[in-house]
Amino acid sequence: MKKAVFIDRDGILNELDPERPKWVPTDVDQFKVTPGIRLLLKRLRDAGFIIIVTTHQPGISDGTLSRKMLNRMHDILLSLKLVDDIMVCPHKADEKCDCCPPEPGLFEEARSKHLLTINYYFAISTRWQEMDAIKHVGGIPIQIKSPKNAKKNLIPTVKNFQEAVQRILYLDKKNYS
Ligand SMILES: [Zn+2]
Repeated sequence: MKKAVFIDRDGILNELDPERPKWVPTDVDQFKVTPGIRLLLKRLRDAGFIIIVTTHQPGISDGTLSRKMLNRMHDILLSLKLVDDIMVCPHKADEKCDCCPPEPGLFEEARSKHLLTINYYFAISTRWQEMDAIKHVGGIPIQIKSPKNAKKNLIPTVKNFQEAVQRILYLDKKNYS
């Protein structure tokens, strides 16, 4: 059985900066991988999970972020050798695409591309939108508390990525050992 963890990018795998518009990096020089992330991804990998980064990058659509820059950022993540795939929704929220969470399209695409035939996958995000989307496809949401989503916590949150990984490993052990 294939099992997977979908991980949202900004504010989890790479650092946000309140000084920047929308806090996100628009240049590869601003793309700073969060310290300690490698070890945590490895713990998921060692437990048999495939790791798929999912990210909403409306900057592609509104012109504040180039594809080339985005690819260079993602080359950095892929160079960790612990990420199996990176899937992007490049649209603005008002474009009515089906891949922008809370629409479940990105997760549906990942499910068919990676042949995840059994509904056993988790999504980690700071945003309620991804949490809603993963529930649509039968996955398990793990939300990380963030100052950006304080009013929109729909489910019990964890403090940080480390706690999110611990929760997944705990649930996995409980279900499958
Ligand atoms: Zn989209």
